[in-house]
Amino acid sequence: MLKHNLDDLTAEERRLLVGLCIWLARGGEGEFQELRWDNQGTSLWKQVNCQRHGCGGNLCPWHQQCYFFAARRKLNKADIIVVNHALLLSDMATEGHILPSYQRLIIDEAHNLDRTAFEKLGTSFAVEEGLRLLAKLSEKRNGIERGYLASLKARYHQCKQ
Ligand code: SF4
Repeated sequence: MLKHNLDDLTAEERRLLVGLCIWLARGGEGEFQELRWDNQGTSLWKQVNCQRHGCGGNLCPWHQQCYFFAARRKLNKADIIVVNHALLLSDMATEGHILPSYQRLIIDEAHNLDRTAFEKLGTSFAVEEGLRLLAKLSEKRNGIERGYLASLKARYHQCKQ
């Protein structure tokens, strides 16, 4: 979705996106932890990372080059999987979308598991997140309509308001 909405990025997000491309061209493996981004980066990351809903999986034309699936292929070949509590909980939250099937796991940093489980698996809603999603759909900036609806309108001129 991001490739259709580059105009919606802030100047800082564009700068980060260029850095992201350079990082990947230099052999970055696509893991967020390597980037050491701040909050602006987190917002951009949510637009470029692998999301369970919206991922085309095998049908995606980028499947073979995809960093997420490359990491997953590596995991599938592993004899031993050591996960930290954060990755384990992310896997649980996505109903097993991240880790391959396993019978036993070695959990690193397990002493943080209960606290992080509350954070990751609990339900919370941040107003900013809702506003960000709404803005993705439609917002007016500098008098110009932006967002997904605006790009649909531009693409399909026959659509009426
Ligand atoms: S396969 Fe990879 S590149 Fe394609 S949609 Fe899914 S996460 Fe994105």
